[in-house]
Amino acid sequence: MSFVIGAPCVDVMDKSCIEECPVDCIYEGSRMLYIHPTECIDCGACEPVCPVEAIRPMQRLAEEWKPFQEASRELFARVGSPGGSTKVTTLEDPHLVTEFEKED
Ligand code: SF4
Ligand code: SF4
Repeated sequence: MSFVIGAPCVDVMDKSCIEECPVDCIYEGSRMLYIHPTECIDCGACEPVCPVEAIRPMQRLAEEWKPFQEASRELFARVGSPGGSTKVTTLEDPHLVTEFEKED
């Protein structure tokens, strides 16, 4: 996995990142978006456009991002590799995300 989306995306989801991704590997859940760990080509185009700095490269993951990395892994273990987010409907968020309480 090269890039990971973390807690700041939860309930924000403005989707600027999706428009930048050249391989359409950023998938929509109900509360946040997820980067596919093997479809991502590590280009870095999404990271600077996120208005809430929710996207980080795996090499610079803060501790609080790691549960989101794990949740994303679980999600795509279930979903597989659809080959593009336009090929699927909204994904079911992992438990961590459905239960996540955002701080104000
Ligand atoms: S790093 Fe590039 S390929 Fe990976 S999710 Fe971001 S824009 Fe898409
Ligand atoms: S740009 Fe940031 S906040 Fe917006 S959907 Fe992408 S990761 Fe989430």
